[in-house]
Amino acid sequence: MKVIKFGGTSVGSAEGLRKVKQIVELANEPLIVVVSAFSGITDKLIRTSNLATMGDLSYQNIFDEIVSKHEQVIDEIFGDNEEKQELKEEVNPLLEELDNIFQGIYLIKDLSSKTLDTVLSYGERLSSIIVSKYIDGAIGYDSRNFIKTDKKHSRNFIDKDISTQLIIETFATLPMVAVVPGFISSDKITGEITNLGRGGSDYTAAMIAAALEARCLEIWTDVDGFMTADPRVIDSAYTIDELSYVEATELCNFGAKVIYPPTIYPVFHKNIPIRVRNTFNLESKGTIIKQDVVRSKEHKAIKGISSINDTCLITVQGLGMVGVIGVNYRIFKVLAKNGISVFLVSQAASENSTSIGVRSEEVDLACTILNKEFAREIETGEMYPMRVERDLATVAIVGENMKHTPGIAGKLFGVLGKNGINVIACAQGASETNISFVVTLESLRKSLNVIHDSFFLSEYQVLNLFICGIGTVGGSLIEQIQCQQEKLKRENGLKLNVVGIANGSHLLLDREGIPLCNYREQLYEKGKKSNTQTLETGILEMNIFNSVFVDCTASEEVSSIYKNLLSHNVSVVAANKIAASSSYENYKELKQIARTRGVKFLFEANVGAGLPIINTINDLIISGDKITKIEAVLSGTLNYIFNEISEEVPFSQTIKQAQEQGYSEPDPRVDLSGIDVIRKLVILVREAGYEVEQSDVKKNLFVPDSYFKGTLDDFWEKVPALDDSFEKRRKELEKENEKWRFVAKFENDEASVGLQEVDSKHPFYALEGSNNVLLLTTDRYKEYPMMIQGYGAGAGVTAAGVFADIISIVNV
Ligand code: ADP
Ligand code: ASP
Ligand code: MG
Repeated sequence: MKVIKFGGTSVGSAEGLRKVKQIVELANEPLIVVVSAFSGITDKLIRTSNLATMGDLSYQNIFDEIVSKHEQVIDEIFGDNEEKQELKEEVNPLLEELDNIFQGIYLIKDLSSKTLDTVLSYGERLSSIIVSKYIDGAIGYDSRNFIKTDKKHSRNFIDKDISTQLIIETFATLPMVAVVPGFISSDKITGEITNLGRGGSDYTAAMIAAALEARCLEIWTDVDGFMTADPRVIDSAYTIDELSYVEATELCNFGAKVIYPPTIYPVFHKNIPIRVRNTFNLESKGTIIKQDVVRSKEHKAIKGISSINDTCLITVQGLGMVGVIGVNYRIFKVLAKNGISVFLVSQAASENSTSIGVRSEEVDLACTILNKEFAREIETGEMYPMRVERDLATVAIVGENMKHTPGIAGKLFGVLGKNGINVIACAQGASETNISFVVTLESLRKSLNVIHDSFFLSEYQVLNLFICGIGTVGGSLIEQIQCQQEKLKRENGLKLNVVGIANGSHLLLDREGIPLCNYREQLYEKGKKSNTQTLETGILEMNIFNSVFVDCTASEEVSSIYKNLLSHNVSVVAANKIAASSSYENYKELKQIARTRGVKFLFEANVGAGLPIINTINDLIISGDKITKIEAVLSGTLNYIFNEISEEVPFSQTIKQAQEQGYSEPDPRVDLSGIDVIRKLVILVREAGYEVEQSDVKKNLFVPDSYFKGTLDDFWEKVPALDDSFEKRRKELEKENEKWRFVAKFENDEASVGLQEVDSKHPFYALEGSNNVLLLTTDRYKEYPMMIQGYGAGAGVTAAGVFADIISIVNV
């Protein structure tokens, strides 16, 4: 025989009940079917009671909902037959009784625990009557007759011996299908109605399975089985095939709601396997919980993660505790005497403090009694009054494979730290199957995601991207991400989740990921009006794990938020050059913050678009080389201009074209004034290990300063005046077979930029179109400098440089 339990999620609807009937009819052995109340009914019974106690007449509305929910399901599953009439004759008196009880509560405005327990019993009593009528040939039982409880510290605990005996007697002869209400019980002495606690139907089923030594206990619910994490919090959580009793217990104890924690012990004791299955998906095999579990092929270190959110931490502290025997004994004795359960303990080896985790509802009482217990020591100063921290959550990672596997705790705390999550207390038992730690409630979701992601419980790693700027570079980047998203997930196990898109006026945030197909429309339709400030707070408030801010703007204001983002463990990838070329102090500080927070500040696309220039310099430096000279053409725009200029296309016209082709900065004067190249050179020199400011760079410009004053329109008007002199010099150069190149140079601690005329033997002579070229002379590359050359401007290649930086964050 087996015991099968259907939760409220299974019996709460006509569709669910049809499935239940189908599952029961498929069995070819005697079954004991344990049922919960219809979904939501226990909650509604509590709410109705509370409203009635407060004298609020609206309790009647909730009560009406309870009545109609039952009536509706009955109408749907029975049609208009005789059985329905018979059923109504059983159900209606119960509903009337319940109505009377509520009226009583309303009139006397008092709700004793005894009355509440009575009220709650109606949920399972009603559902079990309905189910037993619906399943042909089923016999209904009342579990109050055989599940008996004992009252301790004003709580009801099951009396296992008596209950086991009564179950055996009740089911001495087994019908083919017995239907039993879960959750409810009665006091072993007074016979008053009690219950086994929220979620207790699982426990009822386990007690019956253990007493009758069932072949198997099945828990039918609305998910495919026991999952790696709560599927409502972690999208990528998936079903675990097998769990050991120990693993399942550890996970349930820490809030994996799928099974009520006390359920496992009775069946474990009798070595009865538990199968968790989905009523709505018979295809799925579900999860099996048993003694010996085959080690998974992937040998994942942890099986699952769970958490409880109502955590408070009490710290018992004082120098007078050191070396004193019996302090812990007194702490736990006095808590136990008052029925307070402690679920986490952490004590420093120095013995001067012990932290204990308790539920919020018990913290005040626990504190009072501990202060009383240690009143003398507190008065003499040997100990401090209890310190309480509230609004916390406890997370546990669980898996028997953790045993004897070094580095799990290191990795766990490493990834939490990297994501800016502070661990307030932690505990690992010597059994090594569980590591638990306490964090603030607001970082709970992030903690669960980070761990799920980094312990490869997920099939893929996730990077959560905020993309700021959707002009040519940003737009191109989003297109590239969209094209690569599927492939990266499939082949590299990396999910690029764009959780934020912003431009100068709007911001769209969605932690589930923004579909990229029509992001522009969405940004304006669903996004909010925003500015840099709201962008910054939006990102920080989302507080999402593995997050990366991608700056595809040229805005100084946007670059000013990097510092705060990095300080909050958000990596920054910038196409924007302003931060890396700002004051040396700021540049250094940003790099320093990134290092200490364990995140990245990357800006490869600042110089030479997608060419691997900065990374190469870094590699050289890291491996001990010294860069002695940098010589480069770093402006795609200027190179384009000096390659395009001809008898037919005058100087002013080439500038216009460069702008139209998307090579130049939005304001081409930034290129012509040499500022853009100066910024790039400053960045390279700094990355090469030298301290330099923009003002240190000597300039030899080709457009007089007066052209840069006034508006952009003024500039367009004035610039044709330069065409003749350029054409004159161009002709001369043509004759001598020379070309103009705008060269950035660093040598002997001196940085300069300027127009240079190069002859046909010079390596820069043949530089086509908007290409860039860089010559690096180093201790190792002395006689023949290292040369890097290729497209140095354009939205596509710049976006590709940004893309590469993003990917480098996860090392796929
Ligand atoms: P029932 O009414 O069937 O007893 P519960 O609501 O008590 O259902 O438990 C099932 C729910 O538990 C699932 O719908 C799921 O949202 C939640 N849950 C939380 N953690 C887990 C987990 N680790 N695995 C599966 N489900 C979980
Ligand atoms: N109906 C009870 C509850 O909601 C018991 C159960 O569902 O297991 O807590
Ligand atoms: Mg449940």
